[in-house]
Amino acid sequence: MASDCIFCMIVAGELPATVIASDDRALALMDINPATRGHVLVIPRTHSTDVDDIGAEDLGACIALAQQIARRARRTLGAEGVNLLHSAGRAAWQTVFHFHIHVIPRYAGDPLVLPWVPAPGEPGEIAAAAAALEAG
Ligand code: 5GP
Ligand code: ZN
Repeated sequence: MASDCIFCMIVAGELPATVIASDDRALALMDINPATRGHVLVIPRTHSTDVDDIGAEDLGACIALAQQIARRARRTLGAEGVNLLHSAGRAAWQTVFHFHIHVIPRYAGDPLVLPWVPAPGEPGEIAAAAAALEAG
């Protein structure tokens, strides 16, 4: 447990949270600032910061639990779609540095919009980025 981590405190029962599902590796809890009705966070019980350092078993447990919650959002809340979102690092908008997957139910006409305007990329830049990523 990271001593100053609010999600570790929630896992330890030291901070209140509305937990709606859990297993031996992961918890699903309601986000206190919901982007839409039914916004849930899925977190591992063991502290990791983000997708860079989480272990494969905890990552697998979190994504499986996120899938369960996404299905429930469609079946029980009437969501017409769901976004799964993970932010890694301040530049990516991460504000709580304990790994989490946002499960955000989506409804026709809800207020969320894409944060970028999709536009064609420059082929040379796409190829250069692809080469760097492919090379590892
Ligand atoms: P991030 O910005 O790191 O991707 O997401 C952090 C999320 O945690 C935010 O959506 C925020 O509303 C939520 N959050 C922050 N503090 C608490 C808390 O004490 N309890 C719960 N349930 N959610 C929190
Ligand atoms: Zn933590």
